[in-house]
Amino acid sequence: MSFDYDLFVIGGGSGGVRAARVAAGETGAKVGLAEESRYGGTCVIRGCVPKKLMVFASEFAPMVEDARAFGWDIADGPFNWTAFRTKLEAELDRLEGVYRKLLANSGVDTFDQRAVLVDPHTVELADGTRRTAKHILIATGGRPSVAELPGAELALTSNDMFHLDELPERLLIVGGGYIACEFAGIMNGLGVEVIQFYRGEQILRGFDDEARGLVCEEMCQNGIKVHLGTNVLEMRDEDGKVWVKATNGSEQVFDKVMFATGRAPNTDGLGLETLGIELGRSGQVVVDDYSQTAVPSVYAIGDVTDRVNLTPVAIREGMAFVETVFRGNPTPVDHDLIPTAIFTQPEMGTVGLSEEAAAEQEPIEVYATSFKPMQQSFAGRAQKVLMKLIVSQDTRKVLGCHIVAPGAGEMIQLAGIAVKMGATKEDFDRTVAVHPTMSEEIVTMRSPVRKG
Ligand code: NDP
Repeated sequence: MSFDYDLFVIGGGSGGVRAARVAAGETGAKVGLAEESRYGGTCVIRGCVPKKLMVFASEFAPMVEDARAFGWDIADGPFNWTAFRTKLEAELDRLEGVYRKLLANSGVDTFDQRAVLVDPHTVELADGTRRTAKHILIATGGRPSVAELPGAELALTSNDMFHLDELPERLLIVGGGYIACEFAGIMNGLGVEVIQFYRGEQILRGFDDEARGLVCEEMCQNGIKVHLGTNVLEMRDEDGKVWVKATNGSEQVFDKVMFATGRAPNTDGLGLETLGIELGRSGQVVVDDYSQTAVPSVYAIGDVTDRVNLTPVAIREGMAFVETVFRGNPTPVDHDLIPTAIFTQPEMGTVGLSEEAAAEQEPIEVYATSFKPMQQSFAGRAQKVLMKLIVSQDTRKVLGCHIVAPGAGEMIQLAGIAVKMGATKEDFDRTVAVHPTMSEEIVTMRSPVRKG
């Protein structure tokens, strides 16, 4: 049977674009790709990239203050949101162009429209035409989800935050995950009064308790009003602002309310169930270790599979798919020991097990140090950082590394290599410190602070 394509990819985000261009450019496969929105997907258009640029923008305010403490005669000035947003939009246009060019240069046929599956080898495009393919790859990503509650339609999500006409004066952020905490820091840095509601006991559930505790402390120190054990009950419009009733009994008015309460896989209306493709509890495509669905010709990668929802993971899943299907080398994706960073102030970088998870698994030693870093201390800031290693008593392997510090995202990438290689505490000890740095503490912690 002959097909129009060897591979048809639905979704032009990080995972889909990588799989398409590697399959076409490096294995010679004939590839088509449909994208209904903008090329680059969540990461480039409404996630990691614009978020990080906003983090950069937001971190200049304290730098000006610090510069003065270091002897610079420098004055505060206002932040011009419109000027920044215009530049941000131009940068995203440029990056989208890069993605388009990468696909074109690899020989991938692109269709700027929605595609849905009609049978195991056929997709239908929004214009009603159909394309057949030997393999179909679903890489449609995810979208923000907002709980059903009265007034939910008034909620903004992270998607909206890059397009605001003006910055709100008073912003409520709901949620305690990556997105909520990162936007709390961004908006606070840009001069917005930020109130954050999180329903649980401590933000960043699942991460090391001591590390997330310090992040929360520092967020509060920076002026973010974090209300733990608090959620929104009801919202309504009040003269263009948002009136909010909370579980703690408070009733307040905010200029804007942003919900960062998780993301849902984009599987609605794709025609998956009719093909017999299993969807999980949150609507994610269920796949095996090779990203293959129950229908052998259909694969899925990235956030739509709700495994580990991070760009570099989607890219790896895309590469492993190409290796498996187009190079005949079955390659599962290794989801173990993935380093990650949360771009709060300070940042949190983490790899491996939290102290709590490791202690449940086996006897451990905990090495930790918390201190005021040189630069911030000189500038008169109270900011503290944390370096922490969780070590197996039995194998001496470092099971987890947690860093809360400016630049922790950069540090954890490198520490992640050692942890992934199975480094022991003694390997860390044998490594000479780079002085004077914050990260040198990671190789100079001599005695455990506790055992568990
Ligand atoms: P998360 O799943 O990380 O966090 C969702 C938050 O919303 C949690 O605090 C959760 O609370 C809370 N929540 C869920 N449902 C409700 C509800 N009905 N009412 C109130 N609160 C609720 O999702 P995010 O949206 O922050 O991020 C999605 C994913 O995107 C992340 O898991 C991550 O993989 C990725 N990401 C990565 C980034 C990075 O690498 N720096 C940056 C941004 C996103 P509870 O803890 O109680 O469940």
